[in-house]
Amino acid sequence: MRILVVEDEKKVAAFIKRGLEQESYAVDVVEDGVEGQSFAEMNDYDAIILDIMLPKKNGLEVLKDLKSAGVRAPVLLLTARDSVEDRVKGLNVGADDYLTKPFAFEELLARLRVLMRRGMSGTPVLKFADLSLDPATRRAKRGEVEVELTVKEYALLEYLLRNPNRVLTRTLIAEHVWDQSFDSETNVVDVYINHLRSKIDKDFPRKIIHTVRGVGYVLKDE
Ligand code: CA
Repeated sequence: MRILVVEDEKKVAAFIKRGLEQESYAVDVVEDGVEGQSFAEMNDYDAIILDIMLPKKNGLEVLKDLKSAGVRAPVLLLTARDSVEDRVKGLNVGADDYLTKPFAFEELLARLRVLMRRGMSGTPVLKFADLSLDPATRRAKRGEVEVELTVKEYALLEYLLRNPNRVLTRTLIAEHVWDQSFDSETNVVDVYINHLRSKIDKDFPRKIIHTVRGVGYVLKDE
């Protein structure tokens, strides 16, 4: 899951980025409204955290333009003061939720999870064949065998499980699991697919992660 943070206060942005990365999200941070808008339109984010008071273009303007450009990622607005007016304006132009600064990280995380769940079809535990992944506990199970995953392995497996039977290119996978600093020339995606395979496929007769030569990978039960 990849998240865009548009926030000019460096401390707040760093605090959000660090926290989200520990939760295995890929995070891009930009510091003004104009850049925020172009990042949001260029990439396919799973959620956007948007501050209202921003240089160059304020968050409410950005939000309005994103909605008319058809960007569908849920948006969580950050407001500096507890301003009823900003909140109402924000919700009117299509914000999915708002949070007043200062906030506890846990609060932000809880709101984000609700927003992202809303966009998905529901079942909290992700399942495919005899594999299951519980986002709440971050545990994977293959049959009755519990599998421990690193932060990136978890993010990768979650993305695959949300897109079963669909051929995912390396680029698509990289875009959802890694952030903007990802170097597309590297073979990081293949390396992590191999890590995952050794944990959830290698010792089991039914293989579910399949290579599509020259393209990418597909989660398939054969
Ligand atoms: Ca600000």
